[in-house]
Amino acid sequence: MTYTRLNRSAATLTKNRTEGSISPFSGMCVTCVDGCIGMCEIGKSAYRGAEVLYPQPFGIITAASEKDYPVDLSHFSIMGTAVGAYGVEADSDKATFEKVNIETAVGRDKGIKLRVPFVLGGMGSTNVAKQNWPGLAIGAAICGVILTVGENVCAMDEDAEIKNGRIVRSPDMEMRVGLFQKWQDGYGTVVVQANVEDTRLGVQEYAINKLGIQAVELKWGQGAKDIGGEVKIKSLAKAQELKRRGYIVLPDPEDPSVIQAFEKGSFKEFERHSRLGMVEEESFMRRVEELRKAGAKYVF
Ligand code: SF4
Repeated sequence: MTYTRLNRSAATLTKNRTEGSISPFSGMCVTCVDGCIGMCEIGKSAYRGAEVLYPQPFGIITAASEKDYPVDLSHFSIMGTAVGAYGVEADSDKATFEKVNIETAVGRDKGIKLRVPFVLGGMGSTNVAKQNWPGLAIGAAICGVILTVGENVCAMDEDAEIKNGRIVRSPDMEMRVGLFQKWQDGYGTVVVQANVEDTRLGVQEYAINKLGIQAVELKWGQGAKDIGGEVKIKSLAKAQELKRRGYIVLPDPEDPSVIQAFEKGSFKEFERHSRLGMVEEESFMRRVEELRKAGAKYVF
């Protein structure tokens, strides 16, 4: 039995030539033929390089793992009890369907009330998140849950104002926070995440002081993986601006030979990488203190 995935996926727009006969060990066609244009991941990455790591088409998808894990949530059953009741009096006329209440409160003073115990994971600067934000934010506010604004929102905002390396205004962040606040009725809250670049730009301080945010989240890694975030940038001017705002942009958009190659059409997209946070207990605690002094009531 193998958990190795075959070397082709709709996520990387690749497939095997001999789809019915594939070596499970390598994921290659059982006969790798001289002259194949290289449709599988091995073949495509031989001529497109690291680009094949990136799920496609960029900007309109979210990608999931195809791995068939040996254990998943379907192997568990949540069993109730046939004796008594929780959260309500054990009386057949009182423990009725409509009395179900799963409200809860979180935070160190239990000051964040939730109608249902959910936290929406961080959705950051990606187009998919931005385009769907009204539904996400308004839905979260109506449901009374925690909405998390993910990383890079301010720095990726072309209309953001930055002075002395610090964010002073970001219309995109204003929109994301404001939509939730407009629909909020006492339940839930907005949490603003920060990665290395956000922290350097003072995104959380801006969100606390200018947008009335009470909760912030310190982040390192990417979706519980030890990698940084990456997006594709189709414009030279934007790639240069993102480099100025502190990101790692590859290839270097200020290098004259790179500019020339881009303008000639030799490549069409820059990569914007965010850095990996290096967490240590002392610096982590120091940052928590800074955020509390800046006015954060809750630090996740
Ligand atoms: S390069 Fe080889 S393994 Fe890949 S699709 Fe072609 S024949 Fe199959």
